[in-house]
Amino acid sequence: MNIILLGPPGAGKGTQARIIEKGRGLVQLSTGDMLRAAVAAGSEVGLKAKAVMESGGLVSDEIVIGIISDRIDEPDCASGFILDGFPRTLPQAAALEDLLASKGKSLNCVIEMRVDDDKLVERITGRYTCGACGEGYHDKFRVPKVEGVCDNCGANDFKRRADDNEETLRSRLLAYYKETSPLIGYYFAKDNLVSIDGMADMSGVTGSIEAILNDKA
Ligand code: ADP
Ligand code: ADP
Ligand code: ZN
Repeated sequence: MNIILLGPPGAGKGTQARIIEKGRGLVQLSTGDMLRAAVAAGSEVGLKAKAVMESGGLVSDEIVIGIISDRIDEPDCASGFILDGFPRTLPQAAALEDLLASKGKSLNCVIEMRVDDDKLVERITGRYTCGACGEGYHDKFRVPKVEGVCDNCGANDFKRRADDNEETLRSRLLAYYKETSPLIGYYFAKDNLVSIDGMADMSGVTGSIEAILNDKA
């Protein structure tokens, strides 16, 4: 099963993708994570992406399409994947369709996660992750059971993203509404869209997604 999680920054895409990955054996494909890894490694792609990501803009279609196309070819993707943060533009959506068709694959559904803008600001400004395993946390909504220690792996090295500040979030939201939100209409017209309430608590949102996946399976 191949699905897309679509939604603005802070909607909960990464959080839910990790939960579905564990629960269903689908692979999470986060272009944001891949680009941050490229920046950290100082690769050619990373050098091109760094400044754009810091400003809250979108990295070029060519770069992210290339990354996704290569990643989907890896063997772990054969049993299915969750696209988290891709596609983000109409040309990316069209390219995805072509590359899936050329690889004999298809999309099962696109799940749109709806969250109010005020809530997105609150979610993004409180977000941090475990530097060792990538587990996601939040100052208010998900704190580690033992202060300073990751629930998942026991490490004590937490990180905040440089672009998770209110000012850069405004640019990222603008990019979302201008470039990405047209995908909602695009997938609705293709009869592939299911919209869910992303304002519920994490387990509530997981329940909505599970119900959709059970229905499509
Ligand atoms: P995205 O990948 O869509 O940008 P994340 O999954 O990283 O969003 O979530 C953003 C922040 O909000 C994280 O700190 C996460 O712990 C928190 N969060 C995610 N889903 C919920 C939820 N349903 N309720 C409250 N907080 C949430
Ligand atoms: P969030 O989880 O907050 O939505 P991501 O981690 O998905 O953020 O993305 C971080 C940044 O990486 C984006 O602001 C953008 O600069 C870049 N990026 C990620 N995915 C894409 C994409 N599909 N197209 C263009 N830029 C992307
Ligand atoms: Zn951890």
